[in-house]
Amino acid sequence: MTTTFLGAAGVRNIGIMAHIDAGKTTTAERILFYTGVSHRIGEVHHGAAALDFLKQERERGITIGSAATTFHWSVDGADHTVNLIDTPGHVDFMIEVERCLRVLDGAVTVFDGVAGVEPQSETVWRQADRYRVPRVCFVNKLDRAGADLARCADMIAGRLGAVPLVLHLPIGAEAGFTGVVDLVELRAHVWTDVAYEVVPVPDALADEAHRWRARLVDTIAEHDDRFLEQYLEGEPTHGQMHAAIRRLTIRKDDVTVTPVLCGSAFKNKGVQPLLDAIVRYLPSPLDVDGVADGVADGVVGEVSDEAPLSALVFKITSDRHLGRLAYVRVYTGRLESGATVLNSVKGRRERIGKVYRVHADERREIGAAGAGDIVAVMGLKHTTTGETLCAEGHPVVLESMDVPEPVIEVA
Ligand code: GDP
Repeated sequence: MTTTFLGAAGVRNIGIMAHIDAGKTTTAERILFYTGVSHRIGEVHHGAAALDFLKQERERGITIGSAATTFHWSVDGADHTVNLIDTPGHVDFMIEVERCLRVLDGAVTVFDGVAGVEPQSETVWRQADRYRVPRVCFVNKLDRAGADLARCADMIAGRLGAVPLVLHLPIGAEAGFTGVVDLVELRAHVWTDVAYEVVPVPDALADEAHRWRARLVDTIAEHDDRFLEQYLEGEPTHGQMHAAIRRLTIRKDDVTVTPVLCGSAFKNKGVQPLLDAIVRYLPSPLDVDGVADGVADGVVGEVSDEAPLSALVFKITSDRHLGRLAYVRVYTGRLESGATVLNSVKGRRERIGKVYRVHADERREIGAAGAGDIVAVMGLKHTTTGETLCAEGHPVVLESMDVPEPVIEVA
């Protein structure tokens, strides 16, 4: 199968948000493993290899602690670039959390399948609501006693006021949790210790799967007029369903509509369908009016490589080998190594050093980053977090924060 290059349309800038202990770290690690195998090991997904790999990663001290890490995932023959932005877990760092929410276009919210919606999940959910960040929900720990996807979906509706689109029906429970029925395509994803397969829906679950699918179709039709018209003409196709779910997920409305999937990250179940959902349903930088919408007060320009540069520095870290590294989201234009740009907040010129794409455990130098992308940059001397880099002739300030800086008490 040939792979299509999609440009900014193929980029997803996402974060993972969760209540502490829900499984955010485990989910992120598994995502990096499953997307890493394709370029590192180049073989089919292998459960035991996944665990070995993670053990080695921990021993080598490689973490997903980068401010942003990039991976690739193909859906329907199209390669997508996903930038996973590390959102701080502590709600005390409000300003950092808010800054991250502005930089990302979509998020995965991880819930503990036993505890459901917990107080801290409500806090992060409300923050994401504030910036209207489209979300995909992953109900984790389905291998644990008492885990209940349907109850969690009810809590997402009741406690969070969102409209859940339940896309999965679990197969088995606790140690017998082996997979999920995909309710859009009506097929099953099953995992054994060594393999991942897509198979027909088990006979014993056929009736239940059809009931849940009918409910899903009704909910989509209730909220999406275009889908309702298609539905009235006949049984909707998979493509029509995916498209409608995407429209609902990315629309910026008072009511958040969110796809709900399930799995067990720890047991390596459910991560591949989650990756498909990230790519299928979360917005690309072209879908969000990111610049107008979350970050800047005014429209800066078209999200295009040809527009003048506007970019936000959202995190500065210190790298053992490279020194001071600035993580930058490019909104419009191109950020090129060697170029001189303007820091519009300080009114100073900056020279862009090397530009890197950060993978889980490596940094790859690239000459330039395009509109919508997230990269790390070396060489900035005067710039700090929250400041804008832009084209000299087109000054613009991207961030206007109305959150007070936290007061740091010194004991
Ligand atoms: P975080 O605080 O949200 O980052 O949560 P972690 O990923 O660190 O997970 C918290 C604990 O839950 C750890 O002990 C994990 O091993 C465990 N855990 C994570 N995912 C699962 C799962 O799917 N099933 C089970 N049984 N345990 C899990």
